[in-house]
Amino acid sequence: MVDLLEVSGLTKRFGGLVAVNNVSFSVREKEILSVIGPNGAGKSTLFKLISSFLRPTSGEVRLKGERISNLAPHIAARKGVVRTFQETTIFKNMSVRDNVIIAHHLRSRANLFGFFLGTVAAKADEAAFGQSADDILALLGLASLAGETARNLPHGHLRALGIAIGLATNPSILLLDEPFAGMNHDETMRMVSMVRRLRDLGLTILLVEHDMPAVMKISDRVVVLNFGQKIAEGTPPEIQANDKVIDAYLGS
Ligand code: ADP
Ligand code: MG
Repeated sequence: MVDLLEVSGLTKRFGGLVAVNNVSFSVREKEILSVIGPNGAGKSTLFKLISSFLRPTSGEVRLKGERISNLAPHIAARKGVVRTFQETTIFKNMSVRDNVIIAHHLRSRANLFGFFLGTVAAKADEAAFGQSADDILALLGLASLAGETARNLPHGHLRALGIAIGLATNPSILLLDEPFAGMNHDETMRMVSMVRRLRDLGLTILLVEHDMPAVMKISDRVVVLNFGQKIAEGTPPEIQANDKVIDAYLGS
């Protein structure tokens, strides 16, 4: 399998605190890779580094070999590293469908941009996850709610809309920040199966998550952080049997 995203020696200091400490791993094409770890392990910081919302103190992130770690977040997004949209960036007074269509327009601008630059990445992105707005809504279980005003959506569906908006921008890799946070069991299971379906359609997914059982169900591979360092990497069964991981979670 091809490595799509490479994280090498990534480090972020906040004053004397090393929130992310020399972390390296790769995300392979068409896999679901999850980053887990106890509170304060550095997950959110790592997520912000990968999505270019924070600059690393040292180390780098590469997408298809191209360094993205010093780009502005919107440029990294155009290159295909797309994080899901939080509730605050959903247009609440607009319909579910219009939210996705607007994101589609942003995508075509991104494609135009890449087209004029003639970059290899832009050409590869065009072939990546080209789904129509209606296909995307159907994939995320939102087809019957397409005409609904976004603000009327229940929590789980609003979260799905955040993913739909991200998908409409045609990502190479989709970053999900705690996709199961605040969800009940049924919502979590629905989200697990939706994300797996996206992976089966060829999307690459990196998620940062707290909910261990859901992570073990959804992931192809798992990276575990503790105190900013990577302490383990492997398949869910390997991670569940790893003594360092068990100690880190029991100690938290
Ligand atoms: P997690 O998401 O795994 O709970 P975080 O990445 O949020 O962990 O935090 C890792 C460590 O970095 C924590 O000790 C946290 O207090 C610290 N930290 C995170 N963001 C900042 C910041 N902007 N300034 C200072 N310290 C921070
Ligand atoms: Mg966090």
